[in-house]
Amino acid sequence: MNAKTYVDNFMNELVTKNPGEPEFHQAVREVVESVADYIVESPQLMKLKVMERIVEPERVIMFRVPWVNDAGEVVINKGYRVQMNSAIGPYKGGVRFHASVNLSILKFLAFEQTFKNSLTTLPMGGGKGGSNFDPKGKSDMEVMRFCQSFITELYRHIGPDTDVPAGDIGVGGREVAYMFGQYKRLSNEFTGTFTGKGISFGGSLMRPEATGYGACYFGEAMLATRGDSYKGKKVCISGSGNVAQFAAKKATELGATVMTMSDSNGYIYDPDGISPEKLQYIFQLKNVLRGRIKEYAVKYPTAKYVADARPWGEKCDIAMPCATQNELNGAEADMLLKNGCKCVVEGANMPTTPDAIAKFQAAKILYSPGKASNAGGVATSGLEMSQNSMRLGWSAEEVDQRLRGIMSNIHSACVKYGTEPDGYINYVKGANISGFMKVADAMLAQGIV
Ligand code: NDP
Repeated sequence: MNAKTYVDNFMNELVTKNPGEPEFHQAVREVVESVADYIVESPQLMKLKVMERIVEPERVIMFRVPWVNDAGEVVINKGYRVQMNSAIGPYKGGVRFHASVNLSILKFLAFEQTFKNSLTTLPMGGGKGGSNFDPKGKSDMEVMRFCQSFITELYRHIGPDTDVPAGDIGVGGREVAYMFGQYKRLSNEFTGTFTGKGISFGGSLMRPEATGYGACYFGEAMLATRGDSYKGKKVCISGSGNVAQFAAKKATELGATVMTMSDSNGYIYDPDGISPEKLQYIFQLKNVLRGRIKEYAVKYPTAKYVADARPWGEKCDIAMPCATQNELNGAEADMLLKNGCKCVVEGANMPTTPDAIAKFQAAKILYSPGKASNAGGVATSGLEMSQNSMRLGWSAEEVDQRLRGIMSNIHSACVKYGTEPDGYINYVKGANISGFMKVADAMLAQGIV
């Protein structure tokens, strides 16, 4: 069978078996297209249906999350945990609280996580969870009651050697702490079952910074393949949450000027660039005041706020989508290319649509998929797990050094498996093949499970 027929047959069956899950289909198609050549040449992978097994979660837990809001009303949310693959380690992946959360989104995220975790070289399987609960506008006590109810069911399915959740959209230090507190109370054990914990109770230094910093380290490595760097470059960033904030901080430290940040209501463009002092205001605005990005343009009136729009029409050398999936489409890719963008580094998971990826690759600009460039977050979670198991804590310098080493190794793996005959580095292919091989090897060795 040739690779194209394999992909067509595989995707037809996947869509039939998993109807109404477009994000999951999209994520699987990208990986299957990358590894099809490799699979059709391996009788073992074909016969033992390794890819067919990888796309079927080992377990999906869905549950009711009832809680009481400040008005005394009963609210019912949906809770999920997708335990996708444990071939190379315990399930590991974040928890997302956002109104849009559904099974398709969590399956795509858990699927991506499996390969991302494999790329880090650390022993972590793939998982993801979440709820359609939206923390925006909720009081601290409401968020706490919700987190406690969520964990009251989930705690029996997780553990330091079973499944280790962390943060994602809508889940930061506050939410992880509430979930950890309830988990500890119910299990009567103080273990490293969550990562992204506070420093006073087992968290790792540099974990909050890791995804954004790691994305910039990866971007640096990509630019270096063309003798270039962040220095003097204009960077457009989307999002203004955890990943975006630290991507902006590191990009600035590396000598770039950050022009934009955004949230789900619109974006700000600062013609003078977002200086370290202005970025400090964004940290305060988003993490303490829990405000909206449009308030930046009120505080700094030389900046503009554009409602209901994304920043990709602004001129930049480097684009870093750090908000959510499918937030950069084909028409926006055309605008970026027309304006001279040379490098796209994904901080978010699957932020670029397939037609936009095709345009970047056809134009031969540097483009990295999130599973490679945002892997610094989960890698540092892996380091947090190691520190918890050893019951010690490394210094920020030590963690940062390990993070840099891991990002550099992931970059090398992408170059090894993704370099095309003309020398262009296809980071999508490189990341997918490299991530897949380790998981597939482990699954072949462990029999039909
Ligand atoms: P946060 O909740 O801290 O921030 C998310 C940001 O994206 C906010 O500015 C939010 O705006 C914006 N956003 C969310 N949903 C949408 C939407 N539908 N349309 C437009 N903007 C949106 O999350 P993180 O920074 O942690 O995560 C961002 C991305 O990075 C996600 O794709 C996540 O999966 C990925 N990621 C995160 C890691 C981590 O360590 N945290 C690790 C690896 C990947 P608003 O406030 O309006 O919702």
